[in-house]
Amino acid sequence: MSATPATTAYHLERALLPAGVADDVLVTIADGRFASVEPAVAQPAEPASWLPGLTVPGLANCHSHAFHRALRGRTQRGRSTFWTWREQMYSLAERLDPDSYFALALATYREMVASGITSVGEFHYLHHTPRGRPYDDPNAMGRALIEAARQAGLRITLLDACYLAAGINREPEGVQRRFSDGDSAQWAKRVSMLTDDETVKIGQAFHSLRAVPRDQLSADPDRPLHVHLSEQRAENDECLSAYGRTPTELLADAGQLGPLTTVVHATHLTDTDIDLLGTTHVYVDFCPTTERDLGDGIGPSRRLHEAGAQLTLGSDSHAVIDLFEEMRAVEMDERLATQQRGHWTADELVTAATATGHASLGWGDTGRIEVGQRADLVTLDTRSPRTAGTGADSQTAVFAASAEDVLHVVVDGRVVARDGDRAEIGRELEAAISAVWS
Ligand SMILES: [Zn+2]
Repeated sequence: MSATPATTAYHLERALLPAGVADDVLVTIADGRFASVEPAVAQPAEPASWLPGLTVPGLANCHSHAFHRALRGRTQRGRSTFWTWREQMYSLAERLDPDSYFALALATYREMVASGITSVGEFHYLHHTPRGRPYDDPNAMGRALIEAARQAGLRITLLDACYLAAGINREPEGVQRRFSDGDSAQWAKRVSMLTDDETVKIGQAFHSLRAVPRDQLSADPDRPLHVHLSEQRAENDECLSAYGRTPTELLADAGQLGPLTTVVHATHLTDTDIDLLGTTHVYVDFCPTTERDLGDGIGPSRRLHEAGAQLTLGSDSHAVIDLFEEMRAVEMDERLATQQRGHWTADELVTAATATGHASLGWGDTGRIEVGQRADLVTLDTRSPRTAGTGADSQTAVFAASAEDVLHVVVDGRVVARDGDRAEIGRELEAAISAVWS
């Protein structure tokens, strides 16, 4: 990563600003933030770098399990269910140590950066040694992720997950012992040893209502809290039979549906659940490419939005790392589910992937090209075979572009990806993934 000069300037051929698209925009960046955003009529004091294409704000990938990247192309074959996929994922989880976890995360985050992702919410539950003992540094695995993000050049919100049970009233078994801290007080104590900095935020997660018993649902109200919620009907059934409540109702009872809460997937919900998630204005993170890969189902994204919840997006298992595809898929899935078109506008979906996503990760000053915001710029090729002739606006980003169209990425004023990086990233991924399976 190059050093940050005190002030940089870019002349954007076209940019997606809060008020809409504009041609010839001059941005200046000082100390990692936008110092000015204005029409490029006057010559700047210093020469501005020319960025041809459509420049959009940085994308927030709000739900990632970096190590799942090693499953791509390996778990898609044959007939199976979410639960058989999970067995394959567990066999990978058994193999990792802090070094291999770091190498895999670094390559995965480099893939993210090259696709325009400038912040990642890493939902991290692989805490301890394979036998369940803490490492000498009990946060060795979490720190590996933080260092990987730092070297890849994107911000990370480490969503350190509490995972205490194999299911309701069932002790962790097998590799799940790596995930468990014993109880939520021990979990909170370990997490409290991690600290925020300029590009790192420590957040928290309940893995699910299967993995965290009702009496352990406590968390710091001042930090982001993410929870896998109702991804599978079996989870709802287990919760209903044990507690007589849906997972959403349990979270509400525990006072955990707050302004910093994100529920992930929210696929199989009752009308009451939708009402609870809407009236509390929580973030709802959809991961459509993973949800279709795992056969989860299609969640009620628009109904949640209309009830008051706020949509964000994630690539979760990394079957695909492409937030343009995630944006598009939210609308396309609604079309398949309802046999109607036009549920989400392109602008709404871009906002979900940028400003709202960043806010849900604790980066409320990121996701808009506007004075004072952190200076992230993601420039798309508007002349590729996919994007040419599509208008070079938010419709292009949502309905035409792919991660392959990202030419240039700036995070906090630093250039972190350029067109031409992809071959090297491919080699890094190949090496990291071969190493864990060898
Ligand atoms: Zn997940």
